[in-house]
Amino acid sequence: PPANIAIEKIRDVEEVVTSGFFPTNYWELLKKVSTYYYTPLMQVVRTALPPGLLTRSQRRIRLKPEAIPPGATSFLNLSARQILELLQNAKTGDYTWQYLQSKVRGGKQGLRELLKRGWVESYLETPRHAQPKQKQAVTLIAEIDQIDLTPRQVEILSILQRQGGELWLNELLQLSKASATTLKALEQKGYITIQNREILRSLSEPEQAPDRAKVLTVEQATALETINNLQGFAQVLLHGVTGSGKTEVYLQAIAPILEQGKSALVLVPEIGLTPQLTDRFRARFGSKVCVYHSALSEGERYDTWRQMLAGEPQVVIGTRSAVFAPLPKLSLIVLDEEHDSSFKQTSRTPTYHARNVALWRAELINCPIILGSATPSLETWIEVRAAEGHRGTGAQGQGSFSLTPNPYPPTSSQSPVVGAIHESPLPQSPKYYLSLSERIQSRPLPPVEVVDMRQELRQGNKSIFSRSLQEALEQLQEQRKQGILFIHRRGHSTFVSCRSCGYVIECPNCDVSLSYHHIEERAPEILRCHYCNFIRSHPENCPECSSPYLKFFGSGTQKVAEELRKLYPELRIIRFDSDTTRTKGSHRTLLTQFANGEADLLVGTQMLTKGLDISQVTLVGIVAADGLLHLSDYRATERTFQTLTQVAGRAGRGDDPGQVILQTYNPEHSVIQAVKTHNFQSFIQTELPQRAELNYPPYGRLILIQLNSMNSVEVQEAAQMLAGWLRPPGNNNSYEILGPAPASIMRIANRFYWQILLKLPANRIVDLPNFNDLRELCPKSVSLTIDVDPINM
Ligand code: ADP
Ligand code: ZN
Ligand code: ZN
Repeated sequence: PPANIAIEKIRDVEEVVTSGFFPTNYWELLKKVSTYYYTPLMQVVRTALPPGLLTRSQRRIRLKPEAIPPGATSFLNLSARQILELLQNAKTGDYTWQYLQSKVRGGKQGLRELLKRGWVESYLETPRHAQPKQKQAVTLIAEIDQIDLTPRQVEILSILQRQGGELWLNELLQLSKASATTLKALEQKGYITIQNREILRSLSEPEQAPDRAKVLTVEQATALETINNLQGFAQVLLHGVTGSGKTEVYLQAIAPILEQGKSALVLVPEIGLTPQLTDRFRARFGSKVCVYHSALSEGERYDTWRQMLAGEPQVVIGTRSAVFAPLPKLSLIVLDEEHDSSFKQTSRTPTYHARNVALWRAELINCPIILGSATPSLETWIEVRAAEGHRGTGAQGQGSFSLTPNPYPPTSSQSPVVGAIHESPLPQSPKYYLSLSERIQSRPLPPVEVVDMRQELRQGNKSIFSRSLQEALEQLQEQRKQGILFIHRRGHSTFVSCRSCGYVIECPNCDVSLSYHHIEERAPEILRCHYCNFIRSHPENCPECSSPYLKFFGSGTQKVAEELRKLYPELRIIRFDSDTTRTKGSHRTLLTQFANGEADLLVGTQMLTKGLDISQVTLVGIVAADGLLHLSDYRATERTFQTLTQVAGRAGRGDDPGQVILQTYNPEHSVIQAVKTHNFQSFIQTELPQRAELNYPPYGRLILIQLNSMNSVEVQEAAQMLAGWLRPPGNNNSYEILGPAPASIMRIANRFYWQILLKLPANRIVDLPNFNDLRELCPKSVSLTIDVDPINM
């Protein structure tokens, strides 16, 4: 604990979390996350709670100018003088201790000297984002009496009375032109009170015109009835094709819950999709809708957290971290687009999957959970279908482990205890498979035309757009319709290479090639690393052989937009990717512009796939489907199917029929065929046996331990040592160790990455030291992550 806090003021975290201040079983949930993801409990608490709830107070240093004798500063040491200078220039005359120390070398010493002389003082303060925001309100509490009041005072009180007897202090001051002292006098006479009120930091979401529940289709009504009849913990897979009205089912399932004074939690993949979705919820439930995600400011998160805890009936819509929303009367959880990879935290511990946490949570509080998707994850599919007696075609993955011997036997006698393996079944519950097989109003799913780009080239078309796509784009303009163009990559091109010597321009800090970016005509041409953000100017000649024949390969959003402008100067284009949506609110602005018809074509990446519901969109073009397929990990096929199906699903959601043009160099690939025929079954029947054969999820589990360091030798040695330690004890074949091996991109930002992969049977967990303890085993220079059930490898 910080030295300046008296010990009796420190409360055990467990005491705080279990004291009526948190919903029932909240602590159990956090403990579960901690165990399953091998993460120290405190770190889980930090993930779940808003920062403001944990930072109680900060030590601040304030200047005492009156205590400093003139001219006395000249004999101070350098660091003390620098601190004085900082404080003298500070607007408020103070800074946090931490800030000063980070700014001045040897700051601690300097501070001590200044404190000893009494020229500065130190005090504790709760940071603003960790306090409720207060505002002063003035309330009229007595009849206006002409006798003991001046005419001016009567006038002020009359203004207050006309405004309903209550106003914010600043509003009253403005309206009445009164001074604060006048109001104080009125308070002393007992006519008014001036009190602090907590106000919520502005959560600036526009109000929505109210709308009413729609008359459900037969399939929707069946689904809703099943959901309404659920008692306690149950898992529902709502498998509905794109545009089949899943969201309407959620809305109508939530309505009775709010009426009963209870709350619901709706988790969505990404904030890019949230404005449209939250608008729909607000139109239905008004102010009962509350948005919670990590893009809120700390103050906003703190306020929303307190609002959720208050227990009023509400719907919380949020991204991954909202799975920890502290709703005391939570009685339904919805995970929309449950297959989406953004539900998994990958870069920080705990590496939790919001779907897992949501399932545990539903079990702990005994409520139903709905998993909705047009392209369910294989995990959910197997869970729900197997329970229903519709086992997938693959074999169950237990017992069929072939183990490769570990080349690195234990090297130390002080190995931590590892390797005991336990059952860890997913929560057991009744499971329901509900299907919405048709689009609303029996609108057809858009036909998908697969264009073979090799054929195009053979017939002399060298453009990145096939003839079909060109024709469709021309029609778009003629018929005043709207379209979406999906490109797998942002930026301009994926790499720059010399046609003379084959040299590829790479990042000096990472083992990857640089992408070419050219934001607008007047901006400089640059090469950028998508991993470490390294930037250099674009060379005119090859750095290796000086030839002028540098060529761009692969197309990103920028290049496509550029080509479009050349070919169709009239076409109004909006680029929608992480380059153009950096600022807060830009998602909403761009999507609103597009929905209002201010552009003909939305050109973007992955972001487009998430739930966009714009009825005028008739054309969807997929510029190159292959970029996705060629990603190396075992989920590439699944991800391709999901992404392409979701993108295709943006077309034809309104009255006008849609059309999808999918360009590829692999037209025969089974995934492309499955997308073409909108055939989830055929995708799943090809994919499951392949997973089963290699014991990949959902038939087996993976745990990825990744080590990185600036020192390439130390990281390799640490990886080998850990792999030895992690070897199952005795001749225990309970799990398999793959590696250690260099990561697929071995060097990023000058750090070297190695990894160890544990492969274990499904529904098992293995005892491992938690990640802090594992890190202790490695040299200081080596950092470590444990990714449980990794999705990118
Ligand atoms: P999904 O979430 O399955 O992609 P949505 O819920 O977004 O589908 O529904 C697609 C469109 O159909 C939306 O514009 C929605 O308002 C509309 N819709 C949904 N259910 C109905 C219904 N029963 N009657 C009429 N329109 C509906
Ligand atoms: Zn060259
Ligand atoms: Zn780099």
